[in-house]
Amino acid sequence: MSTSDDRTPTPSPQRSTSLSSLMGPQERCPDCGVAVGEAHEYDEYDGGCDIARCLATGHQRLMCDLDHDCGQDIWTGWWPGHTDCERLGWMLAPGFPDLNRLYTQAVWDSERHTWVAPDSEQTVQR
Ligand SMILES: [Zn+2]
Ligand SMILES: [Zn+2]
Repeated sequence: MSTSDDRTPTPSPQRSTSLSSLMGPQERCPDCGVAVGEAHEYDEYDGGCDIARCLATGHQRLMCDLDHDCGQDIWTGWWPGHTDCERLGWMLAPGFPDLNRLYTQAVWDSERHTWVAPDSEQTVQR
């Protein structure tokens, strides 16, 4: 008496969507694969990592064609702008930073490599 088919049904594997990958910190850069604390890869031909920011403008280094040193952005484990939105309170929902607002309204502080609110001087005035 052999029981050949006693396999328990396996639950369908949960697919990791790109949205859920935005939720938490990741050990490695999703694009160039460097670990937290390491500089994103740079390639003089194609620009290198897609996620690295230009440290002079705060925008995507890949798209930056300005004549300056874009610097070496470090992978922090978070998508660029995520922690800035959390600090500014610009979240659409938990885990979903309002990056559109960040890139249109915030001001890049090129010394601290962080986004700051445009009116941080005069905060709550009604
Ligand atoms: Zn990278
Ligand atoms: Zn640049």
